[in-house]
Order: sequence, then C-alpha cells, then structure tokens
Amino acid sequence: MNDPEQRTRAVETDLILQEAYGAPFIPFSYRDPLSEMVNALLSHRTKNVVTRVAYQSLTAAYPSWEAVMEADTTAIEALISAVTFPEVKAPRIQRALSEVKRRRGELSLDFLGDMTVEEARAWLEDIPGVGAKTSAAVLSFSALRMPALVVDTHHHRVARRLGIVPPKATLDKTARLLQSYLPEDWDGQKVYDSHQGFMRHGQRVCIWRAPCCEQCIIRDRCDYYALNKH
Ligand code: SF4
Repeated sequence: MNDPEQRTRAVETDLILQEAYGAPFIPFSYRDPLSEMVNALLSHRTKNVVTRVAYQSLTAAYPSWEAVMEADTTAIEALISAVTFPEVKAPRIQRALSEVKRRRGELSLDFLGDMTVEEARAWLEDIPGVGAKTSAAVLSFSALRMPALVVDTHHHRVARRLGIVPPKATLDKTARLLQSYLPEDWDGQKVYDSHQGFMRHGQRVCIWRAPCCEQCIIRDRCDYYALNKH
C-alpha cells in the first residue's frame, strides 16, 4: 500500500495546483462512455485537435457505433487517417466495439456506472487494446464522471520530479499510486480537477525540456528542485 506521508504530500500539492489553475474545471466532454472509449482509442499519441476531427469524421459518416463496427476496416482507416497509427486504430476500435457487443449483447457501456471504479476499469481493460489510461478516460471524461484518475505524460513527469512517486515509476504505476492517494470522498469532479491541475502544471511550468522551477509555486515541495537548484 501507499506511504501515508507521501499520500499527505501528494494531496496537499494536488490541492495547491487545483486552486492555482482554477478548479473546478469545466468538463470538455459529455459523451456517453462508449463514445468516449472510441475517442480515447483515437487519441493515443495524437493531438486533441486531430483526434476531434477524426472522431467527427466517424460520427458524420456512420449513423451509429454499430455501423462503425460493421464497416469495412479500410474505410474506417481512411476516415481517421490523420491520427497516428490509423492502420492499428481502425481494427482496434472495431474489435473493441465487437467485444462490448459480445459481452453485453448491446453497444452500451452505461452499466459501468453501477460498478466501483476498480470493477469498471477491470471490465474495460479486458478489452484488447484498452489500457489503464483509456479505461480511466472512459470513466472520468464521459457523462459517467466517475472518480478514475487519468494520468498523462505531463502529470507523470510532474509526479516523478516532485518525488510523490518513485523517479523511475512507469506511467501505469504512477497512475495506480496517485489513484490510491486520492481521498475516498473525492467525487468525479474533484478527481478530474486533480488530473487537470497536474496536467496544466506540466504543460505550462514543469515542462519536459527545462522546467521553470524559479516560477514554480510548489518548488519547496519538490525533490527535483531540492537536488538540482539549491
Ligand atoms: S520545482 Fe521545477 S521540477 Fe519541481 S515541480 Fe516545479 S517546475 Fe517541476
């Protein structure tokens, strides 16, 4: 289990970042969870604007996810050609939709709202091609608004530099640890705010190439700063 001191440090830092960047944040999506799964599968290593266009191309070309599932794979690949690895993502999306249909008898993930976060993530991660980040995005970003923490590369970098996770922790390990630190009474909005606060800090201040430590409001809590800047 997690270290109580690290947990306190992580939650305190989290709250500072949430306040500094303007929480509560307005959700960017009100999609149903199945649609959010398709969006998340499109988005891997792809800019948001490109993902958005690819998603809109799919929904404009087909009247339902059932139709996407049954379409010719090369047609799907052509529609999403601007995202990275369209030749991988087109069959992956169709396979994921087929798997939901096979296991549930219908194309809907709304039932996940009746599960705990752990149960729902395990159900999703049994779908080929659905990893930890995608499962968290389906639960957190969709209209389900469940308290599943999405950890992206910015969030991952900030957490490691701060020292609230081990310096060599993988993204998946970081996500599991940070999720375990979250107070149990944080709802979906609060957990979304946590994701947004860390992500924005990583995009704007704790940037990959050269972190702007002298402008950083959490530098007195940071292992990287203590080691490199004093
Ligand atoms: S002090 Fe520097 S390394 Fe630490 S969180 Fe701030 S910007 Fe990142």
